[in-house]
Amino acid sequence: MPADPDDRTALLRRLPGVDRVLAVLEPDLAVKGIPRSVLVKAVRETLDGLRAHILGDHPPVSAESLNETAVALRAARRAQKAMQPNLRAAINATGVVVHTNLGRSRLAAAAMDQLRLIAGNYSNLEFDLATGKRGSRYSAVEALLCEITGAEAGLVVNNCAAAVLIVLDTLAREREVIVSRGELVEIGGSFRVPDIMAKSGARLREVGTTNRTHRRDYENAINAETALLLKVHQSNFSISGFTKAVSLAELVALGRSHQIPVVEDLGSGTFIDFSRYGLFPEPTVQSSVAAGTDIVTFSGDKLLGGPQAGVLVGRKRWIDRIKANPLNRALRIDKMTLTAFESTLRLYRDPSRAVAEIPTLRMLTEPLAATTARAERLAARLEVLGTGQLTIRMAAAVARAGGGALPLLEIPSHCLMVQREGFRAQSIERFMRRQLPPIIGRIENDFFILDLKTVQEDELAVIETAFRHLLEKEPQ
Ligand SMILES: *Cc1c(COP(=O)(O)O)cnc(C)c1O
Repeated sequence: MPADPDDRTALLRRLPGVDRVLAVLEPDLAVKGIPRSVLVKAVRETLDGLRAHILGDHPPVSAESLNETAVALRAARRAQKAMQPNLRAAINATGVVVHTNLGRSRLAAAAMDQLRLIAGNYSNLEFDLATGKRGSRYSAVEALLCEITGAEAGLVVNNCAAAVLIVLDTLAREREVIVSRGELVEIGGSFRVPDIMAKSGARLREVGTTNRTHRRDYENAINAETALLLKVHQSNFSISGFTKAVSLAELVALGRSHQIPVVEDLGSGTFIDFSRYGLFPEPTVQSSVAAGTDIVTFSGDKLLGGPQAGVLVGRKRWIDRIKANPLNRALRIDKMTLTAFESTLRLYRDPSRAVAEIPTLRMLTEPLAATTARAERLAARLEVLGTGQLTIRMAAAVARAGGGALPLLEIPSHCLMVQREGFRAQSIERFMRRQLPPIIGRIENDFFILDLKTVQEDELAVIETAFRHLLEKEPQ
């Protein structure tokens, strides 16, 4: 029941001033080291919150909760929260390996070591140590890219969307680009092929239908204005049934006969043939290059498992023109991305090492038995904790590659389904999400679900601690 107006006025009058709260708060060891400006802001916001509470349609607050000590305690908690980084490491228990909302790929240890070294020191970023003259920042990765993919030349920009943009801007501005209607895709996070096309000033020439596109559709659309034939990997969906697409080889042959370059946007490019690991076949960058594609574009942080970047590999004559485009300066990657990307590429020289050391590849190719064993270890830890308070079930689960890659791929995994008496799954989910580090799972049938595919061994203890905290909470 809301307080009556007289009570409200009395309560508002009881609220202490900022200075009086600060006098109690500042000597408190719990806020030691927190800048004064943060404390002042926390006190102001706490008082504003209490004022709004009193004036709002809420149950009345007690007079004791308005004294300096009580307000200072609230402000201390607020200030401590404000000191936590906004971007924080999280535990991914969703089973989606390349989870865009959770930062896509984790870097390999080798990349992290190098990142630390290059970020904290001067480097030869654009300095040629052999000649003592100015060098190119891309020389660190171009030769490696060519070595791995078999391409003549390569370039790295900010992300794959930028890679597609700069290709179109360089080679197709005010001219036509032919794309199959079945490939006018939208990738999450507002990458839409037609929109990128419009931004680049290229004109989209759609051919075929949603489900069927023939060689003759491309052929009939080719005219003096045609700048490129573009093939876009269908990334996050698949069309089945009565379908027909023109193969890359056919498109390359067509482009050759009309002297029109062919571009393939692979999106989640991979250097590893996943069918060797019993997973779905995904076209590799090497196979696209070998098919004669003039330019191949792909992401650095999807199936490649490196930092966010957009990679272009292909024929030198086109890549050289793209390098000279002023947009390249606007889309250039920084030294931290560059060094992390170089380290990741170096791992690919030995594919078995890449699969073992690049977390994205390691998780995707991990045998089910290893995931199951991890689920069992976590279950054992939680069972000891719970002593009857937690219901824990192990169940088969389906993990996903994510990141718009391998959409149909169902990766067998194992999950833990957790319930606690007196708690809805929603409140367990919220509690876990608010831990440090946050633990991100999902809800199914009023169970909180942790998929172990994406949980690392050293995170089991952290999850155990979070559940210990959960058990300290009173049921609501
Ligand atoms: C993901 C994707 C992109 C965008 O890549 P970013 O690195 O996220 O910019 C472009 N094209 C395709 C086909 C994709 O799958």
